[in-house]
Amino acid sequence: MHKELDVYIEGFKRFKENWFKSGRKAREVFKDQSPKVLVIACSDSRVDPALLFDADPGDFFMIRNLSSLVPPYVKDSSFHGISAALEYAVCKVNVSHIIIIGHTHCAGIATLMSDDDSDTEFIAPWLHIAEPALLRVNVMEHVDDEAKHRACEREAILVSLGNLLTFPGIKERVQAGKLSIHGWYFNMTKGTLERWSGKDKAFIPLVS
Ligand SMILES: [Zn+2]
Repeated sequence: MHKELDVYIEGFKRFKENWFKSGRKAREVFKDQSPKVLVIACSDSRVDPALLFDADPGDFFMIRNLSSLVPPYVKDSSFHGISAALEYAVCKVNVSHIIIIGHTHCAGIATLMSDDDSDTEFIAPWLHIAEPALLRVNVMEHVDDEAKHRACEREAILVSLGNLLTFPGIKERVQAGKLSIHGWYFNMTKGTLERWSGKDKAFIPLVS
């Protein structure tokens, strides 16, 4: 075993101690799952939803990808991993909430905003999902580069929220009041959390 991985083997031993040997009815938790929440988060190593929200195994059904993007509904013969996980969470697990979590200093969004993605095979086409966010930010005037990045990260959440509703099964459940969709934004510099308010047409503090 590689030495740099030893720390995680030790971590698993602690996990086992906590969940399989203590009186935390751990075996019940791992018997079946019925999470109420689907979380869609970035693959970034610093934004693990289970850690951010102090959640337990079984709390979140989870999708993670570059920049926590939701692609639009497309029905063809490609491999739609995100769409399959969405369908499973919504139609099989019957989650009541979907939370999309964006974050500050997202490398994917930074790549989208730069022209430095020409040597990649899959990154640029994937990030193209957030192109509408970039277009909205590009017309902003009197805003510095830093603010544009933060704005694009937030706008990308809105693009993904919109794309969620292109899935007929999701739109139907949202309209029936069986499913709620949320856009949250984690500021990893300040340690704050915001949520998109459709009523206010703005991101407002959840935890400041
Ligand atoms: Zn990210």
